[in-house]
Amino acid sequence: MDRAGLAAKVKSVVVKIGTNALSGADGRLDLGVINALAEDLAGLCRTRNLKVTLVSSGAIGAGMTELNLPVRPKDLPMLQAAAAIGQSLLVNHFAQALRPHGLCAGQILVTRQDFEDRLRYLNLRNCITALHQSRAIPIINENDAVAVDEIRFGDNDMIAAQVTNLLRADMLILLSVVDGLLDSQGQVLPLVEDVDEAVTSMVRPDKSSRGSGGMGGKLFAAGTVQTAGEPVVIANGKTPGIVGKLLAGAEMGTLLLPARRKLSARSRWIGLTARPRGTITVDSGAARALANNKSLLAGGIIGSAGDFSRGDPVTIADNQGRRLAIGLCNYSQADVEKIRGHKSHEFGRLLGASTWYDEVVHRDDMVIQTSGH
Ligand code: GLU
Repeated sequence: MDRAGLAAKVKSVVVKIGTNALSGADGRLDLGVINALAEDLAGLCRTRNLKVTLVSSGAIGAGMTELNLPVRPKDLPMLQAAAAIGQSLLVNHFAQALRPHGLCAGQILVTRQDFEDRLRYLNLRNCITALHQSRAIPIINENDAVAVDEIRFGDNDMIAAQVTNLLRADMLILLSVVDGLLDSQGQVLPLVEDVDEAVTSMVRPDKSSRGSGGMGGKLFAAGTVQTAGEPVVIANGKTPGIVGKLLAGAEMGTLLLPARRKLSARSRWIGLTARPRGTITVDSGAARALANNKSLLAGGIIGSAGDFSRGDPVTIADNQGRRLAIGLCNYSQADVEKIRGHKSHEFGRLLGASTWYDEVVHRDDMVIQTSGH
């Protein structure tokens, strides 16, 4: 793949920077890195009119420094407090660094629910779009002060991937303190076509003490962007001007090639963002039909689980429990139980209804799973 050709086509980019890349050896936020990144991004806005969205970690690390905490707190309220203190410092530094370039920092704090709820998801997109039209760089982080347990991503690589899919940005750049994905000799792998087992097995456990993530998390997040049809670059955030260099086509870091087919905006939400509320298990005939781009009919359903309502996302699995697809279900779980195994002309009698959907999950509301995501 011609890197320069790929980079030249980018009009909208999401850049994620990790805690360690933003911190100096003493663990404090490194203002040199923040200023350099602001200059790098501002240059791209000015010269290429690029839409830049930044996902920045570093809140918890910065809060730890302020509170003189030598290790990342284990108890959640303390972690929330560190994030609350650090986030204001972090975004303030970015705002000051961007101001001389005529740009504002637009802070957006998100939780998992903001992506899973379709309306909030679209609101988030509207806000980012408005910031792009307002000489501002959106600076996104998890709302760590309130995002606990099941509403928490806990990992900004995943948030950056979700934001890339939300915006249908043309490229995701993940910046950390390594030069890219390293092979067993410690050399940077310049190109990854598919995040398969051979690639994930190269990952060493390298979770950092102040941030979360690590290369495993990066690859998983990158895989969802690849699936959606966009490229990802993993590179070193300590390299001066790295984003500008990558977008000028420099052969730096690891490039993960996009899947050939781009998913539509709606399919991205269904397949990569929505959290399934239940599972529908199908027989082998229905599994074959799905693989052939057919809708899911009740006749091939052999079971269902989970308390899902009409319109909710569900996983469709085979009788071995393998995930075949995710789709929006036209029926509640209670109704699926009533009609499963039956033909649609029986639905009126079974449901006591005068109208019904022939398809349990329509083809247009379904995304077939081609990889492990
Ligand atoms: N939201 C966390 C922070 O700002 C970072 C999470 C991550 O490292 O991925 O400290």
